[in-house]
Amino acid sequence: MGWRTSGAQSWESGTESNKPRRGDRTAHFLIDLAKNSQKTVTVIGAGVAGMSAACALAEAGFRVQLVERRGYLGGRASSYLHPGVGEVIDNCQHVLFGCCTNLVGFYRRIGVTDKIHWTADMTMIEPGGRRSVLGPSFLPSPLHGLPNLIRAGAFTWADKVALGRAFTALMKPVPRDSTESLGDWLKRHKQTCGAVDRFWRLVIASALNAEIDEIALPYAAKVIRELFMNSAEAGAMGMSTVPLSELYAPVAPYLEERGGRVLLNTHVEGAEWEEETSQWTVHTRTGVLMSDFVVVALPFEATEKLLPHLPPSDGAGELARQIAQQEHWPICSVHLWFDREITELEHAVLLDREIHWMYNQSRLQGRGAHYIELVVSATRTFAALPRDEAIAQALRELAEFFPRVKEAKLEKVALVKEVRATFGVPPGIDAARPSTISPWPNLYLAGDWVQTGWPSTMESGVRSGHLAAEALCKTIGQTRTFLDADLKPTGLMRFIAR
Ligand SMILES: Cc1cc2nc3c(=O)[nH]c(=O)nc-3n(C[C@H](O)[C@H](O)[C@H](O)COP(=O)(O)OP(=O)(O)OC[C@H]3O[C@@H](n4cnc5c(N)ncnc54)[C@H](O)[C@@H]3O)c2cc1C
Repeated sequence: MGWRTSGAQSWESGTESNKPRRGDRTAHFLIDLAKNSQKTVTVIGAGVAGMSAACALAEAGFRVQLVERRGYLGGRASSYLHPGVGEVIDNCQHVLFGCCTNLVGFYRRIGVTDKIHWTADMTMIEPGGRRSVLGPSFLPSPLHGLPNLIRAGAFTWADKVALGRAFTALMKPVPRDSTESLGDWLKRHKQTCGAVDRFWRLVIASALNAEIDEIALPYAAKVIRELFMNSAEAGAMGMSTVPLSELYAPVAPYLEERGGRVLLNTHVEGAEWEEETSQWTVHTRTGVLMSDFVVVALPFEATEKLLPHLPPSDGAGELARQIAQQEHWPICSVHLWFDREITELEHAVLLDREIHWMYNQSRLQGRGAHYIELVVSATRTFAALPRDEAIAQALRELAEFFPRVKEAKLEKVALVKEVRATFGVPPGIDAARPSTISPWPNLYLAGDWVQTGWPSTMESGVRSGHLAAEALCKTIGQTRTFLDADLKPTGLMRFIAR
C-alpha cells in the first residue's frame, strides 16, 4: 500500500506533468498507489528519535515519510539562524560520549561520523584560573582516570578519598529497581562538600540535568560507570564540528534514495485507524497522510496533546497516566561573540559558579569570530532570570575563569532558554516510561522518554528509534537488529562488570 490522500488525483514524485497545483493542499502528499507495493510508514517528529527510526526503516525496505512541524530537522538538538545575532547557532551545545553506540550508529548510517570531534580530557577550572585535567592514563580501567584525579588540585585529599570510596561502591551493579536518590546515596557514602559540589553536582547536572536529590541512583550509577569506569573509549567526549542541522542534512537524501521523503512545516494533529484496510490516516494542518504504520516520535508533552486525537483504546489511559508523571528540566545557553580570543581551550568545566561548561565554538566548529558558548544545566533559578541579568551574571562569572574577558569587547550575545530541555529521572521513573509498543495496532512510540534505560539524551532518543523500528519489523515477521551493542568494558572492568 502506498501513500495517498483522500479523494485526490494521483501524483508520483518527480514527474513534471502531475506535480501539485498551486492551492491544491492535498495533492502535495500523493504517491501513485498502484506503482508501489512497499509497506509505508509515517514517522511523526524529526528529532533524533524520528530520524533514526526513519533511516533504519528505510534501510529495511519501507517507504518512509518523516513529518516535522518545524522547518528544519533535529528537534531539541538542532541549529537555526538566530535573528537577533544573524548567526546559525545550535539551540545548545550537544555532547555525546563513546558509550553512545546507537547515536554513533545513526551517524554512521547517514555518513557523518567524520564530523564528530573526540576528546579524552576534561579541563576543570576554578574561579581564579587554576586548572585540573581529568582524563585517562596507561592504567587499565577502572583505574585509568586515577592518576589524573590524584593530581587534580580542584579536589582536596579528603575529596579524593571520598570519590575513591564512592567509585569502589559503584563497581557493584546497582539494582534497576532501587528507589534510592543519588543525594541519599552520597550521604550514605560520606561524600565531602568538595566532592559533591565539584564532581557529583557538575557531572550529574550535565549528564542528567537535575538536582542530585531528584535523580534515581541507577541512572547516576550508569553515567558514572559508562563515563569513568568501563573504558577510556566509553568516556571519550564527542562534539559536532558543524551546526547540528547541517549534521543531519544527509537524512533527506538517505530517505529519498529509498523511496521516502521528509515533510517539513507539517504539524500533525491526530490520526485514525481503519480496521478494514489496516491503514492509518494521519491528519496534519496541511492535509492527510496515509500509511500502513505510524511511529510517534514526539516528546512526552506533544504525545499527550495527540492522545485525545487518536482512536479510543484500552491502554490509552495508562499511557496518559505515565505521561502525567513526567517532568521537565531547563537548560540555558549563553552565546557570546568577542572582539578577541579569551581562551585557547576548546572546552572546559567551570567550577563553583552557575555557568557550568564553556565551549569555544570558534575552535570546535572553526567559526571565524571569537565565539564562546556557555551552558547552564539543572538550574531553574538561572532559567528564571530576566535576559539582561542572566547575561550579566554569565559574563561576570566568565571573567573569573578567563581574565581576558575584562579587556575584550562583547560584540553580540544571544541567550537561549530551553525550558523543556530534558525529562527528569527521579526514583521510580521507570514505571512511567512506556514501551515502544503502543496500545494501538501498527503504531509505535519513540522519543528519548520511552523505556530505553537511558536518561534524557540523544542516545536515548536514537535507541528508542531503533527499538521502534525493530518492533515494527517484527510485526510483519522480519527479524531485524538495529540496536547497536553497548561497548564492552575493558581492563579489569571485564571481570568486575560480570
Ligand atoms: C538545551 C539542551 C541541551 C541538551 N544537551 C544534550 C547533550 O549535551 N547531550 C545529549 O545527549 N542530549 C542533550 N539534550 C537532550 C537531547 O536534545 C534530547 O534528549 C533529544 O534530542 C531528544 O530527541 P527526540 O527525538 O526524542 O525528541 P525531540 O528532539 O523533541 O523531537 C521531537 C520532534 O517532534 C516535533 N514535533 C512536535 N510536535 C509535533 C507535531 N504535532 N507534528 C509534527 N512534529 C512535531 C518537534 O518539533 C521535534 O522536532 C539537550 C537538550 C536540550 C534542549
